[in-house]
Amino acid sequence: MKAGLEVHQQLAVGKLFCACPAELTETVTDSFARSLRAAGGESGTVDVAAALQASRGLLYRYEAGPSSCLVEMDEEPPHPLNEEALDTALTLALLLHAHPVDEVEVMRKIVVDGSNTTGFQRTALIAVDGELELGGRRYSIPTICLEEDAARKIRESPGEVTYRLDRLGIPLVEVATGPEIVSGQEAREVAEEIGALLRATKRARRGIGTVREDVNVSIEGGHRIEVKGVQELRMIQEYVEREAARQKLLLEVRDELRRRNAGVPPVDPLDVTELFRAIVSGPFSGAGRGGQVVLALGLTGFAGLLRSPPRSEERLGRELADQARSVGLRGLVHSDELPAYGVSEAIVAALRDRLSSGEMDAFVLVTDHTRERARAALNRVARRARAAVEGIPGETRDPLPDGRTRYSRPLPGRDRMYPETDIPPIAIRADRLDRLRAQLPERPAELEARLARSHGIPIEVVQQIVYGDLLEPFEQLASRGHAPGLVARLLTQDLPAVPRAGPDAPLFEPSLDTLSAMLAAIEAGRLAKEGVPSILAALASGASTVEVAIERAGLSGFSRDDLVSLIRRVVQANSAMVRTRGDAAFSPLMGDVMREVRGRRDGQEISETLRAEIARVRAESGS
Ligand SMILES: [Zn+2]
Repeated sequence: MKAGLEVHQQLAVGKLFCACPAELTETVTDSFARSLRAAGGESGTVDVAAALQASRGLLYRYEAGPSSCLVEMDEEPPHPLNEEALDTALTLALLLHAHPVDEVEVMRKIVVDGSNTTGFQRTALIAVDGELELGGRRYSIPTICLEEDAARKIRESPGEVTYRLDRLGIPLVEVATGPEIVSGQEAREVAEEIGALLRATKRARRGIGTVREDVNVSIEGGHRIEVKGVQELRMIQEYVEREAARQKLLLEVRDELRRRNAGVPPVDPLDVTELFRAIVSGPFSGAGRGGQVVLALGLTGFAGLLRSPPRSEERLGRELADQARSVGLRGLVHSDELPAYGVSEAIVAALRDRLSSGEMDAFVLVTDHTRERARAALNRVARRARAAVEGIPGETRDPLPDGRTRYSRPLPGRDRMYPETDIPPIAIRADRLDRLRAQLPERPAELEARLARSHGIPIEVVQQIVYGDLLEPFEQLASRGHAPGLVARLLTQDLPAVPRAGPDAPLFEPSLDTLSAMLAAIEAGRLAKEGVPSILAALASGASTVEVAIERAGLSGFSRDDLVSLIRRVVQANSAMVRTRGDAAFSPLMGDVMREVRGRRDGQEISETLRAEIARVRAESGS
């Protein structure tokens, strides 16, 4: 297996080609609609991905907010390129030992999904031939680019896609690695390291959706597949592994298809609507009414290769269904899963008869209210099934939350870049690079060593802070005078452990002021660090302040005096054990006391007080 990454990181330096703020908004003040058509370029050829998208005939609606401008609406030429964004990309290039280009030429890259009002994305090559060293291995960094982010997809409805302009034009640094990654774990680690380098520039935007990864995966004999737009870094490993497994399975299917001399006869799909008229429920229940047709296509030699074996990656059935979905159908039904959906043995036999389909043959059925769309779906299914005999078609695939991927569109052609004539080339002068070299930020490894040293916390904890994107809150809380060890524990252990209200509930992200107030309560002795999980849970479920949370969690009003008298009481009640077992009595009594205290006092304070009390009782009794 070989894999390569493209890491896209948003920068917090305004927009790339206008002066608007780079903030997402929920306020919509205006909207307008556009459509896109595919046209041939200078060579006369039309990009396949563009042609497919145009054939969907979609209307694109754009929502503008209070700070949207004419550049974003493509009613005004772009302003000069954001210099701070360029400096950030150059800084990253230097951190990756790459060679900056002499002159930055902004290009237009055709984008076919309506996510740019212009129909293209502006992109500029900043540096080439970089290198990343990680865990004793070297990964090439062929290119580092600066580009504008696309508009944010808000919703899709039949025939229409709505985007919001707030995200359009936010600068993205794109770092591409060579195909030297050989495992899913390595892919995740390389992505984490690039992420840490990007954050080292202090210009990376933070939060969900600010980093997106495209993962290119191929196995021997397979084809490059691009899984586009992975937002959760921890999922990269799974996407890579499952894509490699999918390709392996599809190659096995190919070999079997070739053994069987399988193929798809070049005949038109057959209208079999009549056979389905009696079905009263399921996908075929409307057959013959309101123009709903059922079309069938025979697949010679495909029997048994459509349905997936239990607990394995999917075989061809889902690949074919994705093609039907790409023209707007809900899916298809194939012969490996029949009888089902009200399709009886008798109907299957009749279908086989009409299709001249033998027991080694398969067929697929689609149903739709428009004959044309049903035909288009089966034409795509036929093309995909023929490709299965050849091998694995190159594709762009969408990542799904469960770790699987889904067909999105063909890999775009190579000829889809042309110069952006509205932006003059920008020379990268030696003095600019000298200035950036002089203020180059620390690399993650240097940063970790320094933090571990200056704060006296273990390097593993520092790594969790740096790679977990926790450096900013860590430094801010530490700079407010809170104990670094306490801050590190809060950020790396207590906060991630706060239970979420539901699987789709947002992460609990208290403000720095709230965290600071909680740390202050611990430092003042009003709260034990053992009580932090209860306080966070109370805050997550709506407590307005730390004081309210302490009250609500029942952690208030347990003073030093309360603790001392509790310990006296416990030791007194167990005085026989203390006298006979001596120091060995400590552990069981500590357990008893901790259960009563429930995080209201500090653990170390409790153990010291208990030890002292045990010693006092033993001294009194002379044991
Ligand atoms: Zn603007």
